[in-house]
Amino acid sequence: MVTVLDTIANRPRPRHPEKAHRPDQEVLRKPDWIRVKAPVSKGYAETREIVKSHNLVTVCEEAGCPNIGECWEKKHATFMIMGEICTRACAFCNVATGIPTALDAGEPARVAHAVKQMGLTHVVITSVDRDDLADGGAQHFAEVIRAIRAATPETTIEILTPDFLRKEGALEIVVAAKPDVFNHNLETVPSNYLTVRPGARYFHSIRLLQRVKELDPSIFTKSGIMVGLGEERHEVLQLMDDLRSANVDFMTIGQYLQPSKKHHPVIRFIPPDEFKSYETVGRTKGFLLVASSPLTRSSHHAGDDFARLRAAREAQLQKSA
Ligand code: SF4
Repeated sequence: MVTVLDTIANRPRPRHPEKAHRPDQEVLRKPDWIRVKAPVSKGYAETREIVKSHNLVTVCEEAGCPNIGECWEKKHATFMIMGEICTRACAFCNVATGIPTALDAGEPARVAHAVKQMGLTHVVITSVDRDDLADGGAQHFAEVIRAIRAATPETTIEILTPDFLRKEGALEIVVAAKPDVFNHNLETVPSNYLTVRPGARYFHSIRLLQRVKELDPSIFTKSGIMVGLGEERHEVLQLMDDLRSANVDFMTIGQYLQPSKKHHPVIRFIPPDEFKSYETVGRTKGFLLVASSPLTRSSHHAGDDFARLRAAREAQLQKSA
C-alpha cells in the first residue's frame, strides 16, 4: 500500500492570490514625517490578549495599520467582523482575499463582551466585504450594534461599512440599528477607481452616504480617503464637494502606505503642510470636522473626534436657533 501525504494542503494560504501575477512595485522609503510608535507597551499586550481570548479579528492587525502601537496602548482597537477574508481585491488593501467562512453567530456577543472588558466609551466596528451574502452582512452588523448597546448602553458606536453594492434593503437594516456614526470610505478620487477600487462605484458610495442622512438625520456620517495614489489636488477638492452635497459631516484624509511590493505603489508622500491645507479647505466647505494628517486613519482618535463632532453640531444648532 502506498500512503500519499498531501503536504500542499498544509501550505499557508497566500493573502493575495489575485495579486501574485502582478509585477513587483518598488516600495519607497518613508519620509521623516512618518514615524510610528513601536507596539511594545503593557497596554498593547493587554489589548492583544483581550482580542485573542475573545477570538476576534481587528483591522488594526489585518490592514497592518501604522498606528497600532499608539492605539492599542490606549485600548483602542477596531474590530473587524464577519471573518478575516474579503470578497473584494482592492489594490491598496492588506486584508486577505478569497472565499470567506460562514458567519459566526456568537460573534456579536463576543464583541460586546470585549468592548465591556476594555471599558470603551466609543467603539469602531468595521468588516470585510461580504458580496457572497444576500444582505452583504447587514443583519450581522445590526446584531453587533444591538449586542453592544445591551452590554454597555453608554458606549457610542461607530461603524465603517462596505458599500452594500447590489444588496437591496441592506443599508436600511444597518441604519435601523442606530449607530452613532456611519462611516463609509470613498478611499480615493473617482479617476482612480478602476485601478485602486475596481469592485466599487464612486457614485454608489456617495449615494449610500446621502441615503443614511435621509433615513436618519441624527446619525453622523463620515467618509475618508487616502492620498498619495496619484490623485490631483483639484480632484480632492471636487470629492469634498461631492461629500458635502451628500451632507457628510466628517471627512478624514491620510497618506496611503503600500503594504507589499504587489500592492499599488505610493506615487507621492504628501507633506504635512498639504494635509493642513486640505483640512482648512474642507472646513470652509462646511464639514463639521476634517481630520487630515499623514497618519490619519478612519478610526484613529475616533473617540475624541466623536466628542468634537457632537460639540460642532451643538454649536451649529445654537447658531441657527
Ligand atoms: S488607527 Fe484604527 S485601524 Fe489603526 S490601529 Fe488605530 S484603531 Fe486600529
